[in-house]
Amino acid sequence: MSAIDRFYGLYQHVPVPLQDLMVSGYGWILKRRRYGAEHDRTLAALMESRHYSYERVRELELARLQETLAYAAAQVPHYRELWKSIGFDPRDVRRFEDIRALPVTEKAEVKAAPERFVSDEYGAGKYGTLYKGNTSGTTGKPLTTYKDKGCYQRVWAYQERQRRQWGIEGKGARVSIGVRPVVPMGQTAPPFWRHDRSENNWHFSNFHISEATLDAYVAKIAEIRPEEINAYPSGVFLVAAHALRRGETRIRPKAVITCAETLYADQRRTIEEAFACKVADQYGAAEVVFWIGQCPHGTYHLSHEFGHVEALDGTTPVVGRPGDAVGTGFVNRAQVLVRYRLGDSIALPERRTECPCGWQTDAIETIVGRIDDILYTPDGRALGRLDIVLKKIDGVLESQLVQDEPDHLTINLVPEEGPIPAAEQTIRGRLMDYFGPAMRIDFRWVENIPRTAAGKFRYQVYAVRK
Ligand SMILES: [Zn+2]
Repeated sequence: MSAIDRFYGLYQHVPVPLQDLMVSGYGWILKRRRYGAEHDRTLAALMESRHYSYERVRELELARLQETLAYAAAQVPHYRELWKSIGFDPRDVRRFEDIRALPVTEKAEVKAAPERFVSDEYGAGKYGTLYKGNTSGTTGKPLTTYKDKGCYQRVWAYQERQRRQWGIEGKGARVSIGVRPVVPMGQTAPPFWRHDRSENNWHFSNFHISEATLDAYVAKIAEIRPEEINAYPSGVFLVAAHALRRGETRIRPKAVITCAETLYADQRRTIEEAFACKVADQYGAAEVVFWIGQCPHGTYHLSHEFGHVEALDGTTPVVGRPGDAVGTGFVNRAQVLVRYRLGDSIALPERRTECPCGWQTDAIETIVGRIDDILYTPDGRALGRLDIVLKKIDGVLESQLVQDEPDHLTINLVPEEGPIPAAEQTIRGRLMDYFGPAMRIDFRWVENIPRTAAGKFRYQVYAVRK
């Protein structure tokens, strides 16, 4: 049993005030990890490069890419040996296109031997100085990540730059929904939140949201009046929809920052209407290969200082349509990933357009997170993001598509009040347009839709046994 499991085992059995103290204690540890000299230095540089011309920011990106490749060739066993065997020399990289000579690093390779990607600077008995983590994949074995001490501080500087863009000063209270599993699963009565005093951050559970508990969530958040809300889209969406139904207008944060799940257009509209502010969606990954955040004009800005991003169809680069997101990260010195295929899908723009905010970067057109599966028609066509199918339907709070047979879908629906046969007819009609008449469809009206072990909501689930 790991230290964290033992800690959680103890945590679950102490009274709520003591849990608040433990959450705050953990908050202090995270705060020390995230803030410090490296954070401040990185943030100062980021506030400056925010005003660079596009050409200058790409020059900076290329210089970091070259430096990262040289470091990997010298220090990282996997790349040192592989590149030697194929005769690749990082000094030959003069343009971004030159790295296409390198094989893509697949997730399975890193999962199989994560230590082979750890730099010699930290390997061989120096692992103790690193932060070890496991990604929370929905299927299969988790991937072990290693980060050096400065990595969290560098990453948190990007977070802080985004908050500053949105005018968030950090003086008021913060509400987080889903970010940390703070409430024991067996708990059935409020409070479904814990208070981290280290950052005046109220953590709400993503696992306890239901029709029966939403009144308590909305009332508490209205009482806190947060300056910002950080949340998984699915959680804050349910809270927002409930606040609208209840006519609650006291929740007025400067922005709702969403992460970790795909944010759907309907969710965004509901959240923005309920809280009279905009949603700042952001996108990163535990493997720290890229960072994308929305500005107040809605553009998904790519942080060129953080990593180099490609969209690939197999091994062919694509623009203007989605491809596999492949990244080379610059911020982690411990575990270095070059041309790493993340498993998400991303569309790079055909040509760059100016954003009214003045920040000169590439703008990402679409991002589809790996948390959602692709579904297939009975004749084998792949269907990605189908949120359009289950667009707002009166009386339905939340929905989920599960493909459990090649020709069968189960649609899980959470009702606002009770099951509505008309909603089933509407959804059936829309799904038939996509899947064709051979697809059989059944509906299940449920009290809530379970989250993954990491508390994430999956909208599309492919569960056909192979
Ligand atoms: Zn912008």
